[in-house]
Amino acid sequence: MRWSYRCPECGAAYPIEPGRYLCDRCGSRNAPGMPLHGVLECAFDPDEARRELAAGSIPLPVEAEHFPSLPVGGTPLWPAPRLREELGFPGLWLKDDGCEPSGSYKDRASYLVAAFARKHGIGEVALASTGNAASSMACVGAAAGLKVTVFLPKSAPIAKRVQVLQYGAELREIEGNYDLAFDTCLAYTDETGVLSRNTAYNPLTIEGKKTAAFEIIRELAARGSRPPDHVFVPTGDGVILAGLIRGFEDLLALGEIDRMPTVWAAQAEGSSAIARALETGRLEPRPSATLADSISVDAPRNGVFALAKLRRHGGAGAIVADQAILEAQRLGSAKAGLFAEPSSAAALAAFIQARPRLGRDEVAVAMLTGSGLKDIASAARAVGYRLD
Ligand SMILES: *Cc1c(COP(=O)(O)O)cnc(C)c1O
Repeated sequence: MRWSYRCPECGAAYPIEPGRYLCDRCGSRNAPGMPLHGVLECAFDPDEARRELAAGSIPLPVEAEHFPSLPVGGTPLWPAPRLREELGFPGLWLKDDGCEPSGSYKDRASYLVAAFARKHGIGEVALASTGNAASSMACVGAAAGLKVTVFLPKSAPIAKRVQVLQYGAELREIEGNYDLAFDTCLAYTDETGVLSRNTAYNPLTIEGKKTAAFEIIRELAARGSRPPDHVFVPTGDGVILAGLIRGFEDLLALGEIDRMPTVWAAQAEGSSAIARALETGRLEPRPSATLADSISVDAPRNGVFALAKLRRHGGAGAIVADQAILEAQRLGSAKAGLFAEPSSAAALAAFIQARPRLGRDEVAVAMLTGSGLKDIASAARAVGYRLD
């Protein structure tokens, strides 16, 4: 299949090859701690993509034989009747990516990046992370036989750091936040030439995250439901958000759906730059403060790209308090048997907040992006259990 990168800001095209990250013209490599400009997007030939889809596979820019042997994607979509009844919304579905091999949605991106590395004979991948991307790349990298180096804030939940070490990756702990880890890792990959899996910076991290859109459409159709009217996405850097919108755009272009769902950026009050920008028109980094660590970023690295996609398709923002996140987390566990980490539960909290504005017969999907076992300290707090 003929694939290339395109810059959504100026339209420039580039081959998909090692060493290519941002657009040469629009890229903003020299602005540490800021959203990236010139983030590239994958482009393909629609006729070939349609043939791939008809053959049962999701069109991706790396051939199937390069993917490591590991069950990534194809996660369950649940109707959760007790939760539906509790919330008075019969069309609610939960997409559970806590079931991924490393326990988070990040595996979808790591899987594509690992396949790309194998295709090009690259032996090492490095990345910065709040925790889940690191444990994910370490996991998928282990299955693929790659060396993985991760830059992680010391404050990352312990389960995520232990996962990294269990999978045999190299852990570099940063005395600082995720934003500092991001810039430190860029300096490392610049210096060494190692493949960067920094989220948004490597365009394949966005493309890899589109696959759940295809699964949702397929699964809902198989269960006799129409496509979703609303999709709630926990959002930090805005890569899952942009990846999912990208997936729905593909499905629209390929004739699999006839309109876009409303995609909601679910953000914590203390880290809400993308949702705020939808209202103010300005993307303003701000020091982050939320217990939902996976969506805690000062500057959403994919903010420019994600906002453009949200605006193009009438997307919406939902800003939820940490308390509402913890309540949604407990509700999901107790009413659906789905124990999600706080960042994931933000999607459910956003749905609960938005529900009075949704039509009663509409179809909504909440993206539950990570397992609750990844951050026991916050989960303990939500149920009032004191850890010693
Ligand atoms: C990374 C992550 C998110 C947010 O994804 P972004 O692409 O940073 O917006 C949400 N939930 C979980 C569990 C994550 O690991």
